[in-house]
Amino acid sequence: MNDALTQWDAERAARIGELYRDLHRNPELSFQEHRTAAKVAEALAPLGWDVRTGIAGTGIAAVLRNGPGPVVMLRADMDALPVREETGLPYASTATATDPYGREVPVMHACGHDMHTACLLGAVELLTAARQSWSGTVVAVFQPAEENVSGAAAMVREGLFDHVPVPAVVLAQHVSPMPVGTVGYRPGPLMAASDTLDVVLYGRGGHGSSPENALDPVLMAACTVVRLQGIVSRELSMQDQAVVTVGRLQAGTKDNVIPDTAELGINTRSYSPEIRARLKASIERVVRAEAAASGALKDPDLTWTHGTSVLVSDPDATTRTLDALAALVGRDRLTELAPVPASEDAGVIGDCVGAPTVYWFWGGSDPATFADDRAAGHLVANHHPRFAPDPEPTLASGVALMTTAALAWLDRA
Ligand SMILES: [Zn+2]
Ligand SMILES: [Zn+2]
Repeated sequence: MNDALTQWDAERAARIGELYRDLHRNPELSFQEHRTAAKVAEALAPLGWDVRTGIAGTGIAAVLRNGPGPVVMLRADMDALPVREETGLPYASTATATDPYGREVPVMHACGHDMHTACLLGAVELLTAARQSWSGTVVAVFQPAEENVSGAAAMVREGLFDHVPVPAVVLAQHVSPMPVGTVGYRPGPLMAASDTLDVVLYGRGGHGSSPENALDPVLMAACTVVRLQGIVSRELSMQDQAVVTVGRLQAGTKDNVIPDTAELGINTRSYSPEIRARLKASIERVVRAEAAASGALKDPDLTWTHGTSVLVSDPDATTRTLDALAALVGRDRLTELAPVPASEDAGVIGDCVGAPTVYWFWGGSDPATFADDRAAGHLVANHHPRFAPDPEPTLASGVALMTTAALAWLDRA
């Protein structure tokens, strides 16, 4: 065991565990992580790092310069989701918030970003306590708004690298419904590119009994949804993986009233820049053409609201990091994953400065519970209202993994 991990004692485990439960009980939506950021800043304050708050609103970057050597960036995300928690845990959330559409929504740390934040604080503490044993610079980044894949780009845009040095590597991890003590990784493209398009289709409202006097945006929307499914099935090769999902379709208020407009929310996934660009172009073509086919009097509004590139876990950097993690948990507990269709903006930070990113998933499930759930065919995964990592072993594991990965890149003192 390295010097840093010996610092994970009962007092630290209890304190970080309490902080985790506090974050879990008080989740905040993307770009609203004010209380969370205050808690992080409060935890960092006594450690002597150079702490910069308020980057892109709620983002935090903390730097510990500890002699000559490489710069290593450790990144955690802090935001929660509009999900009503059903875990029944004593520290379950009952929080609500106003979402970007002005709706009151329940809020839950259903993706486990509270775990990421707590583990990074734990790793920061261990690296501070063991600073005699290593040399270099560590940058800890607490990022807002991963769930809408906007926070990393926002932090870079708003001057992250005015405050922190360019790293040799960016390290990030995600808690996952795998047995605690296991790690999932993949060198190369790991998570999909994602883009989100909001569409407003314009018709002309009227009485449901007299469609000839109206221009029905509901039919226009329905035809658009169907036609969009032709992009992946008819325009891409079977070698190209992609998804086009219409997750939001809204129009009208009553059965016998033809509304003026209809709205679509469209989401894409892909694993290459070429396919990503093709999906965007094809979707725009279909949406405009279906509106024209309906005889729309006004062109549709198309707004690409957010998106992120493919998350690539740099192959060489991943190998170097995984060797250290294998020494910690055992090579047989590392699993190479297939590409993950979910998306993640952790890679954006390194991409902006030409630094490699290393990203891995670590298990947060009690092994027996995991085995039972898998046998029963209902594994509770991230974003589910009952997603609940097993706190203490998951924290200990996440802290040890992040600390070990950092030390794999820092010089020994
Ligand atoms: Zn998520
Ligand atoms: Zn997540």
